[in-house]
Amino acid sequence: MSDKEEIDREEAVKKMAELLRSGATMLAETCPICGSPLFKLRSGEIICPIHGKVYVVSRDEDISKISAENVLSRLEHLASIKIDNLMKRLSIEEDIETIEMISRWLDILLKIRAIRTGSSK
Ligand SMILES: [Zn+2]
Repeated sequence: MSDKEEIDREEAVKKMAELLRSGATMLAETCPICGSPLFKLRSGEIICPIHGKVYVVSRDEDISKISAENVLSRLEHLASIKIDNLMKRLSIEEDIETIEMISRWLDILLKIRAIRTGSSK
Protein backbone atom coordinates (compact mmCIF):
# COMPACT_ATOMS: atom_id res chain seq x y z
CA MET A 1 0.00 0.00 0.00
CA SER A 2 1.35 3.43 -0.94
CA ASP A 3 1.57 6.43 1.36
CA LYS A 4 -1.12 8.13 -0.65
CA GLU A 5 -3.61 5.34 0.00
CA GLU A 6 -2.72 5.44 3.68
CA ILE A 7 -3.46 9.16 3.81
CA ASP A 8 -6.70 8.68 1.90
CA ARG A 9 -7.78 6.08 4.42
CA GLU A 10 -6.97 8.31 7.35
CA GLU A 11 -8.86 11.08 5.63
CA ALA A 12 -11.83 8.77 5.11
CA VAL A 13 -11.87 7.68 8.75
CA LYS A 14 -11.76 11.31 9.85
CA LYS A 15 -14.60 12.14 7.47
CA MET A 16 -16.66 9.18 8.73
CA ALA A 17 -16.29 10.37 12.31
CA GLU A 18 -17.39 13.84 11.26
CA LEU A 19 -20.40 12.40 9.47
CA LEU A 20 -21.47 10.39 12.48
CA ARG A 21 -21.08 13.42 14.71
CA SER A 22 -23.30 15.43 12.39
CA GLY A 23 -26.07 12.87 12.84
CA ALA A 24 -25.50 10.82 9.68
CA THR A 25 -26.07 7.09 9.85
CA MET A 26 -23.83 4.41 8.40
CA LEU A 27 -25.50 2.19 5.84
CA ALA A 28 -24.94 -1.45 4.99
CA GLU A 29 -24.30 -0.40 1.39
CA THR A 30 -20.82 0.40 0.23
CA CYS A 31 -19.55 2.89 -2.32
CA PRO A 32 -19.54 1.33 -5.80
CA ILE A 33 -16.26 3.11 -6.54
CA CYS A 34 -14.10 2.62 -3.46
CA GLY A 35 -16.01 0.19 -1.23
CA SER A 36 -16.23 2.54 1.74
CA PRO A 37 -19.34 2.32 3.87
CA LEU A 38 -21.94 4.84 2.75
CA PHE A 39 -23.60 7.35 5.02
CA LYS A 40 -27.08 8.71 5.00
CA LEU A 41 -27.27 12.34 5.95
CA ARG A 42 -30.17 13.78 7.87
CA SER A 43 -31.25 15.43 4.61
CA GLY A 44 -31.64 11.93 3.14
CA GLU A 45 -28.64 12.25 0.86
CA ILE A 46 -26.33 9.29 0.61
CA ILE A 47 -22.68 10.09 0.51
CA CYS A 48 -19.35 8.31 0.38
CA PRO A 49 -16.80 9.72 2.84
CA ILE A 50 -14.29 9.80 -0.02
CA HIS A 51 -16.32 10.55 -3.11
CA GLY A 52 -19.04 12.71 -1.66
CA LYS A 53 -22.45 12.25 -3.22
CA VAL A 54 -22.94 8.82 -4.78
CA TYR A 55 -25.89 7.15 -6.35
CA VAL A 56 -26.51 3.67 -5.09
CA VAL A 57 -28.89 1.17 -6.50
CA SER A 58 -30.24 -0.71 -3.54
CA ARG A 59 -32.73 -3.49 -3.13
CA ASP A 60 -33.53 -2.29 0.36
CA GLU A 61 -37.09 -0.97 0.42
CA ASP A 62 -36.22 1.51 3.13
CA ILE A 63 -34.09 3.25 0.58
CA SER A 64 -36.93 3.96 -1.85
CA LYS A 65 -37.40 7.48 -0.55
CA ILE A 66 -33.71 8.12 -0.91
CA SER A 67 -33.82 6.78 -4.44
CA ALA A 68 -36.25 9.56 -5.27
CA GLU A 69 -33.75 11.97 -3.81
CA ASN A 70 -31.07 10.32 -5.91
CA VAL A 71 -33.07 10.97 -9.04
CA LEU A 72 -33.47 14.60 -8.03
CA SER A 73 -29.76 14.89 -7.33
CA ARG A 74 -28.87 13.38 -10.66
CA LEU A 75 -31.27 15.66 -12.46
CA GLU A 76 -29.86 18.62 -10.59
CA HIS A 77 -26.36 17.57 -11.58
CA LEU A 78 -27.41 17.14 -15.20
CA ALA A 79 -29.09 20.53 -15.19
CA SER A 80 -25.89 22.16 -13.91
CA ILE A 81 -23.86 20.50 -16.65
CA LYS A 82 -26.38 21.50 -19.31
CA ILE A 83 -26.53 25.09 -18.10
CA ASP A 84 -22.76 25.22 -17.98
CA ASN A 85 -22.49 23.94 -21.57
CA LEU A 86 -25.19 26.29 -22.77
CA MET A 87 -23.41 29.20 -21.10
CA LYS A 88 -20.22 28.29 -22.94
CA ARG A 89 -22.17 28.28 -26.17
CA LEU A 90 -23.70 31.60 -25.22
CA SER A 91 -20.28 33.17 -24.68
CA ILE A 92 -19.39 32.32 -28.28
CA GLU A 93 -22.64 33.26 -29.88
CA GLU A 94 -25.64 34.86 -28.30
CA ASP A 95 -28.84 33.37 -29.59
CA ILE A 96 -32.36 33.27 -28.29
CA GLU A 97 -32.63 29.52 -28.50
CA THR A 98 -29.72 29.00 -26.10
CA ILE A 99 -31.12 31.54 -23.66
CA GLU A 100 -34.45 29.76 -23.90
CA MET A 101 -32.84 26.43 -23.09
CA ILE A 102 -30.95 27.86 -20.11
CA SER A 103 -34.21 29.24 -18.86
CA ARG A 104 -35.84 25.81 -19.13
CA TRP A 105 -33.06 24.11 -17.22
CA LEU A 106 -33.26 26.81 -14.57
CA ASP A 107 -36.97 26.04 -14.29
CA ILE A 108 -36.09 22.41 -13.66
CA LEU A 109 -33.62 23.44 -10.96
CA LEU A 110 -36.30 25.58 -9.35
CA LYS A 111 -38.73 22.68 -9.41
CA ILE A 112 -36.16 20.39 -7.80
CA ARG A 113 -35.69 22.97 -5.03
CA ALA A 114 -39.45 23.24 -4.60
CA ILE A 115 -39.85 19.46 -4.30
CA ARG A 116 -37.06 19.34 -1.72
CA THR A 117 -38.49 22.16 0.34
CA GLY A 118 -41.91 20.59 0.18
CA SER A 119 -40.76 17.15 1.27
CA SER A 120 -38.58 18.36 4.14
CA LYS A 121 -41.63 19.73 5.97
ZN1 LIG B 1 -16.33 6.12 -2.61
